Amino acid sequence: MSDRSMIDLIRDAARKATARGDTIAARNYYRDVLGHQPHDVDALLALARLIPVVSERQRLIAQAQLIEPENPAVLAAATEIEKNISQGLKIIIVTTNDTPQSNQITAVESAPAKPLVMCPVHGTRAAPLRCTSCDRPMCIRCTILNDVGQICPSCRYKLIPERYRSALRHWLVAGSITAIFATIIPIPLVFLLKIPFIGSLVYIAGGMLIGSLSAQITIRLTAKRGRAMIIASGIGAGIGAIIAMMILFGSHISLMILLLTGISIALAIRNIKQTLN
Ligand SMILES: [Zn+2]
Ligand SMILES: [Zn+2]
Repeated sequence: MSDRSMIDLIRDAARKATARGDTIAARNYYRDVLGHQPHDVDALLALARLIPVVSERQRLIAQAQLIEPENPAVLAAATEIEKNISQGLKIIIVTTNDTPQSNQITAVESAPAKPLVMCPVHGTRAAPLRCTSCDRPMCIRCTILNDVGQICPSCRYKLIPERYRSALRHWLVAGSITAIFATIIPIPLVFLLKIPFIGSLVYIAGGMLIGSLSAQITIRLTAKRGRAMIIASGIGAGIGAIIAMMILFGSHISLMILLLTGISIALAIRNIKQTLN
């Protein structure tokens, strides 16, 4: 029997158990389904409806929200649980019949239950989920889904290798170095433009020189790589090129110069990408 048809059988058993009011069996069947398919939104919502403890129910709905935030059934469940929480409910008595939507909900306000945990980052948002790595409570906005489960932003950050963890000061170094080279290198090369064709080629090739030189020096100085560093360096190349153009031509830039400079910058960024990736 295939995995899928087996899960369908368990799901069917869960529905039947729900219909005959055997909530304990139904819960176990749905947990079984989720054991095979942790991202099964229908099973998450169905199980949530069978759980009396509001905080536990909220946790399941939050998981469904992470997987399918736009799903109308998920949104309805989230709205309802928010309402229950705002009413101060801790426990919802589950009564099942053939149509789970018509569950009667009765409040038992004096029932003991875990206090609602708030997100340490967002403060006012409920934190029904826990990081599978550091066990810190977290709200839906803070949660990141990855292959092993749900983790918090700081655990995700720790998973990034050191050389890819760059900060503003590294970006400023990358941007400044590239801007300096992109300003200086075109100045002597512009005079070569008088030589037909070859001069233009050399001018364009200047972009490659700008890219590799600044990327090499950036790595020497910062030991950082990655997307943010490439973007910072690219912005530097653009700023440097604009400064060089203003120094050399003022407001008399020809279309040809603009075109050649554009190609040159593109080549610079290509080399920066190759080196800083
Ligand atoms: Zn964590
Ligand atoms: Zn949060």
